[in-house]
Amino acid sequence: MSGTHLLTELRAAVGAAHVLTAADGDDLTAYEQDWRRRHRGRALAVVRPGSPQEVAAVVRLCAAHGTPIVPQGGNTGLVLGGVPDTSGRQVVLSLQRLQRVRALDPDNLTLTVDAGCVLQVAQQAAEAAGLWLPLSLASEGSCTIGGNLATNAGGTQVLRFGNARDLCLGLEVVTADGQLWDGLSGLRKDNTGYDLRHLFIGSEGTLGIITGAVLKLVPQSAARLTAWAAVSGLTEALALLALAQRRLGPTLTGFEAMNAFALSLVDRHFPDLRVPLWREHPWCVLLEVSDHDSEVHARGALEATLAAAIEQGAARDAIVAESLAQARTLWHIRESIPLAQAQEGLNLKHDISLPVSRIPAFCAEAEAALHATVPGARVVNFGHLGDGNLHFNVQAPPDTDAATFLQEHEAHVNQLVYRLVQRHGGSISAEHGIGGLKAALLPAFKDPTALAIMRAIKRALDPAGLLNPGRVLLPDNAAP
Ligand code: FAD
Repeated sequence: MSGTHLLTELRAAVGAAHVLTAADGDDLTAYEQDWRRRHRGRALAVVRPGSPQEVAAVVRLCAAHGTPIVPQGGNTGLVLGGVPDTSGRQVVLSLQRLQRVRALDPDNLTLTVDAGCVLQVAQQAAEAAGLWLPLSLASEGSCTIGGNLATNAGGTQVLRFGNARDLCLGLEVVTADGQLWDGLSGLRKDNTGYDLRHLFIGSEGTLGIITGAVLKLVPQSAARLTAWAAVSGLTEALALLALAQRRLGPTLTGFEAMNAFALSLVDRHFPDLRVPLWREHPWCVLLEVSDHDSEVHARGALEATLAAAIEQGAARDAIVAESLAQARTLWHIRESIPLAQAQEGLNLKHDISLPVSRIPAFCAEAEAALHATVPGARVVNFGHLGDGNLHFNVQAPPDTDAATFLQEHEAHVNQLVYRLVQRHGGSISAEHGIGGLKAALLPAFKDPTALAIMRAIKRALDPAGLLNPGRVLLPDNAAP
């Protein structure tokens, strides 16, 4: 059956207005190009179904034609998981029209949404009911709940509330053969066999297409305070983390670290943000406290913790935001690092995790090895330190053509960083996923038994290999 037949059938299934093709003069850039603009693929078509049933119909049609599908939410992913390859054979299945908030159950503390619901919209729905969806990423204005779950997104509150996986109670999924599984349970306990939702969460669109989800909410806290502390290095940052965890307990909801070079990029590209303390100190830390008592209580505890940290040498200086606006600015600075990096030019990203205790040793070794082999390379190091998750990114030397730098050094730098990560017991992907970017690397870094189980699951759920082929597992790896 030809591509033309498929397009005709897709138009009949979802309406002609929702099947976009370059041949018809539609601009597909937003669907074919990744957020970092490192890759531009070519889609056979972009299909935008308007309901779970239409998603199922699209999957059935593509299956009948043997056409591969690339599910896509907000297209903010950083590992080339949601954009098509250059073959012109893949259909991008965009979930953007499935954007409803379906229900909020205040007694059960749950929110049920369509997969294409933008994270910020879901957050606002919770807030309007006096509740809190504790999932927060810098991309929250564009990324979708389906994408968050498909990548098991992390973000800035994992320390207290876990990853997207920990916030999901139920899923609705279209399987590779076009069946609609209604697993939209709001149950916190359900031991009736395998917990299928956990298979689909983090599978990056390779096992099924998420069309809806039930998310856990928590009561809003009485006060949320943000502080910014300067530290002399990562060892001190970890001493501050331990002290804050001891003194603040579960009220500590965020602990982010940023090296001075990362902050210097924010200062250079977004001078209006007025980054505090970065010029005099090698690292800064952003702490967030969410307290169910009162603002006075929270402020007292936070200030006392920071004073103790300075006294004990775990911090050199610190400020606590005086207002919500100031707190937002501090978060905005932290969240502007990826944008400032993009403004500075193409760079190499390493979204890695390590046992928290190994982070200082890893960073010292990685920086030394990098500077010894790639003179002039600049390390933008920041991340969710409380979760052991760093974005250990490498920027080309100043006045160097970044594209040429990447071409010459990408393979070497990636091997250097990932081998060290492995030696220190870490992971080559903490929160962004594997996508197409790291699929070829995975076999060298994943336990062979785990990889074999992953291949078996892929074969069982997607025997024809049509769901997001080439992502997570390369076709060869997925073959029987
Ligand atoms: P997309 O980019 O559209 O897709 C991502 C992957 O999920 C693809 O493999 C795609 O095929 C699959 N997919 C999407 N929707 C579905 C669906 N409904 N069913 C099945 N598969 C699907 N990530 C973090 O974890 N933590 C961060 O702190 C963070 N910060 C970021 C900051 C910036 C500025 C940017 C640009 C990105 C950041 N990210 C972060 C990465 C990204 O935002 C997350 O991975 C996000 O969860 C992707 O959601 P999305 O809707 O944009 O998914």
